Amino acid sequence: MSATTIVRIPIFPFNMVNAHLIKTDEGCILVDAGTPGSQRKFERVLRQNNLSFDDIKLIIVTHAHTDHAGGAARLRELSGAPIMAHEDDAGYYSRKEPMTFCPTGPVGKLFFKTPLPHESYEGFVPDIMMRNGDIVDLRDFGAEGVVRHTGGHTPGSIAVELSSQDALVGDLVASGILIGGIAFNGHAIRPPFEDDPQKVSRELQRLVESGAKRFYMGHGGPLGASEVLRHAQSLSRILPHSCASGQCDHARPLC
Ligand SMILES: [Zn+2]
Ligand SMILES: [Zn+2]
Repeated sequence: MSATTIVRIPIFPFNMVNAHLIKTDEGCILVDAGTPGSQRKFERVLRQNNLSFDDIKLIIVTHAHTDHAGGAARLRELSGAPIMAHEDDAGYYSRKEPMTFCPTGPVGKLFFKTPLPHESYEGFVPDIMMRNGDIVDLRDFGAEGVVRHTGGHTPGSIAVELSSQDALVGDLVASGILIGGIAFNGHAIRPPFEDDPQKVSRELQRLVESGAKRFYMGHGGPLGASEVLRHAQSLSRILPHSCASGQCDHARPLC
């Protein structure tokens, strides 16, 4: 199996929104698809790495927020690569259910009032639909590692764990201020929205304990294991959020 390199794809500048490329000798895997209409940004980074859309073996969408799933349908058209995602976000991917948002604080509440998180995107059905408890081996797609369901940020959030000790975790953790690494990029924070901080905390601790050393995220990053662990431990002290405690019926757009 070939060595892997993680390449950041800037969707917005200053680490505000990232997608990533897992580059191997056999091609590449995309992790997240950016906002709708981001394909030129992917094309540019692919070209800089002597790759094209044809080299994409798989498109992993970590969760259904528009900054991660928005460009997926178009990137599938351009590459012919299958989309992998989890069924617990499938209703959002198909656009049949309205996305719900659980703000983590004043920034999340303010961000919710902007058009950004609500930007509509072309719906899709994932070609590889993960179901609860599934662990998918990436060997068939040229990389050594697995994709695992974490939930926590959204019901169907998934994370990539590579044997190179790199973890690509979507929005399980963020860094910087507001939605990215404009400043304090090395400081872990909660993203603007998060369904279940206790679950996120357990998953981040599990990742650190299983040997992940570098964490690549949708906003800010990358972060080292010790900073992620500090954040995970502080999350575990947060009282259960109404979304996590089952009081939220997820029928409303905002918990
Ligand atoms: Zn998100
Ligand atoms: Zn995000």
